Amino acid sequence: MSRKPIIAGNWKLNKNLKEVKEFIAKIDGKLPAEDKVDVAIAAPALYLVSMVQERGNNPLKVAAENVYFENSGAFTGEIAPAMLAAEGIEYSIIGHSERREYFHETDEDINKKAKALIEAGVTPILCCGETLETFEAGKTAEWVSAQIEAGLAGIDGKDVANMVIAYEPIWAIGTGKTATAEIADETCGVVRSTVEKLYGKEVADAVRIQYGGSVKPETVAELMSKENIDGALVGGASLEADSFLGLLEIY
Ligand code: PGA
Repeated sequence: MSRKPIIAGNWKLNKNLKEVKEFIAKIDGKLPAEDKVDVAIAAPALYLVSMVQERGNNPLKVAAENVYFENSGAFTGEIAPAMLAAEGIEYSIIGHSERREYFHETDEDINKKAKALIEAGVTPILCCGETLETFEAGKTAEWVSAQIEAGLAGIDGKDVANMVIAYEPIWAIGTGKTATAEIADETCGVVRSTVEKLYGKEVADAVRIQYGGSVKPETVAELMSKENIDGALVGGASLEADSFLGLLEIY
């Protein structure tokens, strides 16, 4: 089964609007063809509409870094899945470990976000991943499968097949410590078997699973050559246009 890879940047809390526009100007005309790889950037919500305007004909998908699970109402400060959809934003990250840790998001919140995004027609990039302590205790597989099971609860198989799941070991995020390609592949394999257990082989074969955590232009090729890894979610190395394009050179 061949799955189309998806390389996504995650800018986190970085850049001003001028820098966002400069970045898009620098990658203009340089992205690989859309039939080979999906290319996306997740940016602060304030910039998403401009990114959709600035991208022109470039095959750049735009992603939110987070979203709420209600579409309207008295929820000061939140952004709705329907708002993203209406502005042409194709993806939203949900359940990034920084949201779980600093903003106390629970598996239940993340599951509601996944459902609301699917309903609105925006593709969720559902993150999972373990702490160094869990990794060293040899409990990665059970931790990650529990996160996936909770995150996908009540979602139909046909929708799961179209989702993206990102495995990001917390100990590898922003630390320069990439998981070895073998470890990354093994745990992405655990995610895939969890999906298979819940939904069967067809859905497990279709769902795209990214690895994230200190991915760089120099490490991306080996990671992407692994059976269970269908893409990357990249923070630091996605911030500069040259480095971002470097991640895409293999396509
Ligand atoms: P990093 O971040 O590539 O800077 O480690 C990845 C992420 O948090 O998505």
